Amino acid sequence: MIKNLVPLKDWHSKLKDRPVIISGPCSAESEEQVLQTARKINELNKVAIFRAGIWKPRTSPSEFEGIGKIGLKWLDKVKNETDLLVAIEVANKEHVRHVLKSNVDILWIGARTTSNPFAVQEIAQSLKGTDIPILIKNPINPDIDLWVGAIERFRKQGIFKIAAIHRGFYPFERTEFRNIPKWEIPLEIKRRFFNLSLVCDPSHIAGSKDFIKIIAQRALDLDMDGLMIECHIDPEKALSDSKQQVTPNELKKLLSELVFRKSISKDKIYKSLIHQYREEIDAIDYQLLSLLSQRLNIIEKIGMQKSDKNIAIFQIRRWKEIMSSRLQFAKGLGLSEDFIKKIVQLIHEISIQKQVDIFHLKGINKKRKK
Ligand code: PEP
Ligand code: MN
Repeated sequence: MIKNLVPLKDWHSKLKDRPVIISGPCSAESEEQVLQTARKINELNKVAIFRAGIWKPRTSPSEFEGIGKIGLKWLDKVKNETDLLVAIEVANKEHVRHVLKSNVDILWIGARTTSNPFAVQEIAQSLKGTDIPILIKNPINPDIDLWVGAIERFRKQGIFKIAAIHRGFYPFERTEFRNIPKWEIPLEIKRRFFNLSLVCDPSHIAGSKDFIKIIAQRALDLDMDGLMIECHIDPEKALSDSKQQVTPNELKKLLSELVFRKSISKDKIYKSLIHQYREEIDAIDYQLLSLLSQRLNIIEKIGMQKSDKNIAIFQIRRWKEIMSSRLQFAKGLGLSEDFIKKIVQLIHEISIQKQVDIFHLKGINKKRKK
């Protein structure tokens, strides 16, 4: 039997409080920069895990590619001097070899690595038999199966302390953010695994420190289990991701302004109201489903008629009329055009498919009779 994943809060006694805050520089650059940042972050008493990249996957080889394994010694000092656990990124088995000889507590897999099943497999195999927890960032492209696959690869090697990091997806169009959040994908991955903790990385989604707060707040509103926020003692001088890193003081302000939500409430009035609303929603959903079934039954009759009279299934004029009348009606109800367009389109596609199936069946029956 494959064991369940272990939630973030059970990885360590220092991770009991939700949400778990992970913070630290994009890259470890010098011993002073690492230690000064870590000391300040530690003073806030709100951060549980210190992050710093020592091997950096950069787009161009002329960019800063990380300080390398000497950074492990600096992280050791962080552990000696502060209460923080430490986390770094690994991208191949060589990195894993160095890290397993160090005192690093947690590893993370970067977005570029998650996109590459060979690399994920190599790392997962080199971690077999260890108990080190691992955070897996989403792949660059919005491909949920690739993300799921990466989690599975580690699980198959007997690693169960796994959480996912949502860092957004590569934008094919210009957007205000560096990466598009596509919130539905992290929510879907949480549905796919029992006990999968989810951490949001608003820094890499935002790409600029101005947007970190709104993204972090959205993640908390969606009940995510943690936040990973890049913080540098002097962001303007940072050798990577300079625009999106905040100072320890800015981090302090940001954390004090965020509204932390609870997953559940014991308040009796709240509980009874939510219960009542949920019953109303349940009733409406069942009505919607029976209406959809009634609609499809009528479609079946239409399909039979068209097939008997040799009429084409798709009727462009009727389709245009359906869409415009439904949009008009929906507008009067205050429903968003985008939402209704998607629903009407989907219902229409299913209705066409249903008629195609009927044509096909009738065709087969005709042949049999001959
Ligand atoms: C990072 O965390 O600094 C990093 C390189 O992130 P990502 O893999 O999300 O691009
Ligand atoms: Mn970064």
